Amino acid sequence: MGRTEQGIERRRGQDLTRYYAKKAADPDLLRKKWAKTRASETPEQRAKRLAYVRAWQDRHPDYQKEWGKAHPGYFAARERAKRAADPEGARLRARNWRLKSKYGITGDEYDAMAAAQAGVCAICGRAETMRIKGTLCILAVDHDAETGRVRGLLCVNCNMLIGGARHDPAILREAIAYLER
Ligand SMILES: [Zn+2]
Repeated sequence: MGRTEQGIERRRGQDLTRYYAKKAADPDLLRKKWAKTRASETPEQRAKRLAYVRAWQDRHPDYQKEWGKAHPGYFAARERAKRAADPEGARLRARNWRLKSKYGITGDEYDAMAAAQAGVCAICGRAETMRIKGTLCILAVDHDAETGRVRGLLCVNCNMLIGGARHDPAILREAIAYLER
């Protein structure tokens, strides 16, 4: 018996025979029920639920790891299904996670910067053309490695240009003088 089922039994003092029969016929029963609840909750209810989940996870730090070990492939399969159901949403979530973890900015902050630059590179003023596996890359986030400050968004070429010059204006000035010789 899972912890939720124990809770249900404790709260209501019900005979759960019928519930267990239904659950045996459909192992995803609870998951579907939760999905329905999630779809109809208000932002406040969502925040409250997530806070409760986080507090529970803090009290049981190894639970998910152990559960994952006992159910190999479960999380990977779930991720695949989520991606297949909504590839665009999955791409956005992955992008937002990368932006947050690498540069500390949210997806919305990135979008605002891109809009302020009219979607083009802050140096050459051109749109990104680089593609990886057919997908157009987004403009790269150029940041000061020492302070972490985000300077702006650059195309792949300009990002490599200033990276190759070690972000040193003196080298870039020498390069200009050299080109104009
Ligand atoms: Zn550029």
